Amino acid sequence: VVIVGAGAIGAACAFFLSGRGLRVHVVERAQVAAGTTSACEGNVLVSDKAPGPELDLALYSQTVWRTDLAEHQHLWEFESKGGLVDAATDAERQALRALGEGQRRHGVVVEEVAADAIPDHEPHLRRGLAAAARYPQDAQVHPILLAAHLLRLARLRGATLSTGVEVTGLLRSPDGRVHGVRTSHGTVSSAYVVNAAGTAATRIAAMAGVAVPVLPRRGFVLVTEPLPPMIRHKVYAAAYVASTLSSDEALQTSTVIEGTPAGSILIGSSRERIGFDSRVSLDVIRALSADALALFPGLADVRVLRSYLGFRPYCPDHLPAIGLDPRAPGLAHAAGHEGAGIGLSVGTAKLLAQQVAGVPTDLGLESYSPGRFTQDVHR
Ligand SMILES: Cc1cc2nc3c(=O)[nH]c(=O)nc-3n(C[C@H](O)[C@H](O)[C@H](O)COP(=O)(O)OP(=O)(O)OC[C@H]3O[C@@H](n4cnc5c(N)ncnc54)[C@H](O)[C@@H]3O)c2cc1C
Repeated sequence: VVIVGAGAIGAACAFFLSGRGLRVHVVERAQVAAGTTSACEGNVLVSDKAPGPELDLALYSQTVWRTDLAEHQHLWEFESKGGLVDAATDAERQALRALGEGQRRHGVVVEEVAADAIPDHEPHLRRGLAAAARYPQDAQVHPILLAAHLLRLARLRGATLSTGVEVTGLLRSPDGRVHGVRTSHGTVSSAYVVNAAGTAATRIAAMAGVAVPVLPRRGFVLVTEPLPPMIRHKVYAAAYVASTLSSDEALQTSTVIEGTPAGSILIGSSRERIGFDSRVSLDVIRALSADALALFPGLADVRVLRSYLGFRPYCPDHLPAIGLDPRAPGLAHAAGHEGAGIGLSVGTAKLLAQQVAGVPTDLGLESYSPGRFTQDVHR
């Protein structure tokens, strides 16, 4: 199996495909985690997902994180710290409660926190909030360490990796079957090609004449100077959920704030549909800072060391494309996970490996099928 891309998704696919005894070769045009995986946060969230296929995948991924990968958690700083979602107004409290009730029916653990109990969970969070909800399953990982170690573990099982090698075309037989890749350094034959190219996934799909629309959604993150531990959970405002689910093109900032083992606090993130524009935007940085101060006034004197930006790979229906492509035999996709590709990487990869190996998948893949994009690309 040739995997295109060594981000979190490609690395996880390498781990689970090699775990099934398949011979895996990963082709990466730059270096490990060179794409969005090195420009994101490491939230592994169930709290921000409404009932539906994305929540199903998030819950499945929870099991994979905590069972299949339990022995490796320290490698990528897996922290099961839980999430705390706060409601500023009565209306937000009701919306949060309604979301929680729906999630609970699907297996999410949600604990309601009364306003006067919030300081027991987050002592530095601003006073005067209406309520909060605590999600013990929410966790955090270091995304770059995740990709690097999953690939290292896959290589211990015999997988190989070429960096600095770009996939420029797909090898196809006259009946359209994909049987390898053409690269900047020659060709590689394989039984399957897995498209894990992040925001470049559309281009790889087009090489097989099929459409998989993956578009960029820009996001900024701020990194503070290291501080003594002061934030215990992943803390965010209830308005964040609305922004992750929104199709609005305009700038949205709903801040998620979290501490890291290194002491820095991550303040993220914004959402904008603005193509691949990688210019720093002071307006966005100001808006994120203001959101953070509104939640944690104690951050007022803390310096921001740097900011970074990345492009979330999203499909127009906000669901990833996972699995074998019925329109292009031999080609599978694992792309388009938007703002959740770190958390969903391991569930995605385990399911994909099951499908490629021809065994029943633990979760039905219909909702994520790349075949749902009907338009073909003629090249
Ligand atoms: C600001 C921000 C915050 C985020 N926060 C979170 C979060 O907290 N939790 C979470 O789960 N997700 C988060 N995300 C989303 C997450 O980062 C992505 O969903 C995830 O990194 C996608 O991983 P990937 O492997 O699909 O893509 P990428 O990491 O982009 O990897 C794709 C790889 O393919 C390579 N490639 C592309 N074309 C070719 C080619 N032709 N030949 C060879 N190689 C090729 C690229 O170089 C790249 O390394 C965030 C994103 C942003 C921008």
